[in-house]
Amino acid sequence: PASGRPRRLAVLGATGSIGVSTLNVAAQHPDQYQVVALAGATNVTRLAGQAAAFRPPLLAVLTEEHAAALAGLLPAGYHPEILVGPAGYAVLAALPEVDLVVSAIVGAAGLVPTLAAVAAGKIVALANKESLVLAGDLIRAAAARSGAVILPVDSEHNALFQALGGVDLPDLPLVERLVLTASGGPFRAASRQSLESVTPQMALNHPNWSMGPKISVDSATLMNKGLEVIEACRLYGLPVSQVEVVVHPQSIVHSLAQLHDGSLLAHLGPPDMRVAIAYCLGYPRRLSLDVPRVDLVKLASLTFEAPREDDFPCLGLARQALDCGPSHTVALNAANEVAVDLFLKGRLRFLGIAAAIAATLDAHAGEPLADAAAVMDLDVRVRQEVADWVMAR
Ligand code: NAD
Ligand code: MG
Repeated sequence: PASGRPRRLAVLGATGSIGVSTLNVAAQHPDQYQVVALAGATNVTRLAGQAAAFRPPLLAVLTEEHAAALAGLLPAGYHPEILVGPAGYAVLAALPEVDLVVSAIVGAAGLVPTLAAVAAGKIVALANKESLVLAGDLIRAAAARSGAVILPVDSEHNALFQALGGVDLPDLPLVERLVLTASGGPFRAASRQSLESVTPQMALNHPNWSMGPKISVDSATLMNKGLEVIEACRLYGLPVSQVEVVVHPQSIVHSLAQLHDGSLLAHLGPPDMRVAIAYCLGYPRRLSLDVPRVDLVKLASLTFEAPREDDFPCLGLARQALDCGPSHTVALNAANEVAVDLFLKGRLRFLGIAAAIAATLDAHAGEPLADAAAVMDLDVRVRQEVADWVMAR
């Protein structure tokens, strides 16, 4: 929102947790943002409500059936174009009339539209961490070619970006290591024994953050932090040895960068994703924001502890995959998505998630991944293998 004209937004995953928070931030500054395009998948009721409020000329949904249902829910006299499916999402992500794309689809489905936005040279507010886990190198290369600016929405990476002033780490040789904070999730203090009987309902009940189902389960297994270690390495071109994880149950310190002189640069704020989203929407300027403020005296203490890596093996599996190479991180992500889905459907135990990933992680070592099609092809094959592995047990 620099030159007086509103910044024009496209939101992928508009109906999800991040999408809803994004539109809340935009609605707090109606003079500065024009919503040009909204993409959802199957929740046409929510998308219709958002579309009626913001009146974008373009929408996208998963199938023709959803498009028909959506059209029937829109107010009289408002006739946006409705695009359909992955091809539609990619068109929406690269629209010439859009300045900033919020990439907030969950999972591997976010990769192709994210790449489309990056290749089109957009400012990309990137919540879809899975796309960096799948194809961080392709995304960085595409951004270097197009001049796209990638702004991390994920609170930890957003915190690092803010703490470091948005500078690329290769230009900042003073950075010794990054410290990602983790809430520890709902089972931070649960006994090993009790993890055997975790239900989906228990896993979806996060103590600090209200999020979509997949990332909520990822937070409970610590896979979310594992994906974020990979995300940090891919964003900044750092080896895994320079990224550490510390559990911080209050979720107020959102991450830290340690410099060679011992300094720790941190970003603190309320556990509300709108803070990180607003930073991205306003970048390089700051927006005012109506969110609850942190009351430090009421908090009284901020605590830190080591993650229980033996009881939550997903974090170590993610580090291991990163160390092994790009086809391992694709396999890790695909296996995790399938395992989480089966867990939520009651077909796999909580501890079975890590077991399923461990069982399939090494099957595709060193496969060449030259483009997004190769990545998605491997993704599909691993999904089938994990589903077969679970069925066979
Ligand atoms: P969510 O489940 O609430 O929403 C997901 C969105 O993606 C919905 O709009 C849905 O319609 C859309 N979607 C799902 N499958 C799709 C498909 N096949 N094609 C197109 N669209 C599809 O998820 P969320 O919590 O908003 O998370 C979105 C992304 O942001 C994830 O990658 C997550 O890891 C990341 N993220 C979320 C949070 C958070 O606080 N929610 C924080 C950091 C990062
Ligand atoms: Mg995060």
